[in-house]
Parts: sequence; structure tokens; C-alpha cells
Amino acid sequence: MTESLRISELFYSVQGESTHAGLPCAFIRLCGCNLRCSYCDSCYTWNEEGRLMSVDEVCAWLEQYPGLMTEITGGEPLLQEAVYPLIKKILAQGREMLLETSGSLNIAKVPEAVRVILDIKCPDSNMTAQNDWDNLDLLRKRRVAGSQDEIKFVLSSAEDIVWATQIVQQYNLIELFPVLFSPVPERLPPDQLAAFILQEQLPVRLQLQLHRQIWPGRNRGV
Ligand code: SF4
Repeated sequence: MTESLRISELFYSVQGESTHAGLPCAFIRLCGCNLRCSYCDSCYTWNEEGRLMSVDEVCAWLEQYPGLMTEITGGEPLLQEAVYPLIKKILAQGREMLLETSGSLNIAKVPEAVRVILDIKCPDSNMTAQNDWDNLDLLRKRRVAGSQDEIKFVLSSAEDIVWATQIVQQYNLIELFPVLFSPVPERLPPDQLAAFILQEQLPVRLQLQLHRQIWPGRNRGV
């Protein structure tokens, strides 16, 4: 079945990230990832088979949350070709859609109506070489066409903060996109990141994963 997806989990929770943090959201988490970030909090998706579901079955699950914001995440959701018919079908329902992607795969086929949350992998992720920098040009074009995409840096150290700040400035990211700086909880104290942002008067958004604060220790279903 070409239009089937390997689903890690379907769940309804509070959106914990992005400028939409705090809002109710229906999540579709797909299996598989081509990266191995050092801090990954969803590494259970890497090799799991998951549940094989058709696009129609996933949309049927969504029907219990009519009109609600929907996010597709992973793993890396763009690895599965059937994600595109799924996106098309969800958009046809008139929902606001978010797509979390690692930034390592080209986003050219993602419709502009989807709000892409694009990661840029920092050095301490050990995945910087996997960043597909062409995506930044695509994001600019999407922005001109009216997309509301966001860019996220997950930060593990002071070195990551400096690196991310250089990238933000080099590519003038703040001009066009909300830029999210998100600390890895066990590695970078949020107050250290906050102090840097304030000191540099950097107009980025400090993002603390809201769901981890509400449900500490829970890795799935939130
Ligand atoms: S891209 Fe996301 S799911 Fe994949 S290894 Fe990195 S943090 Fe984990």
C-alpha cells in the first residue's frame, strides 16, 4: 500500500513547542529517523516498526478532534512518502497544520499552507553535517508566498548558543521567521540561555518544552 504510513503513536496533548505552545493539538508521530542526535528524546522511533495505517485510517482517528490543530512529527516524518497524501487530506479538512522536521531532508514538496518547524542541527547534536542548507532558500520562498514557518535550534552548550547565534545573523533569519532557541534540559540550564539572550538583546524565542514540565518523565503520548 503506497498510501500507508508506519505510525509510532497518535495522541492528543498540549502543544509543547513552537509559537503555538500551550494550545491543544492532535499529534501524528511517524516511525523512523535518518539522524541520530545526541540528545534525542524520541529515539524509540528510530527502528520501531510501528503500526501500519492508511491515510484514511489516520484521518478517521483525527475526526474525534474536529477542527483542531494537527502536528505531524517523528522521527523524521518526511522519510515516508505517504506523508504527502496525508498532509493533503488533512489540509482539505481546513485544519491548521504543523510539521516538525529535522532539516536534513528537502522540504520542497511540503505545501505552503503547512507551518514547517525546521530544525537546524547544532554542533553538539553531532548532526551538523546533515543540515540541508538549501532549505533556508526554500523557507524564504515559502515566506514570500505567505507561509508561517519557524526555525528551531536545540542547544546543548554555550558553544552551541554561540554557533546558533552566528547562523541566525549570517542568514538574517530573524527578519523573516520566528526563531526558537530550545535548551536540552539535562545539558543547558534555561537560565544560562536566558541570560545570553537578554545580554545580547537577541530577539529569539526561548522555548522550554511545555509538555515535559506538565508531565515530567513521560516520553510518550505527550
Ligand atoms: S532528528 Fe529528531 S527524532 Fe531524529 S534523532 Fe534527531 S532529535 Fe531524534
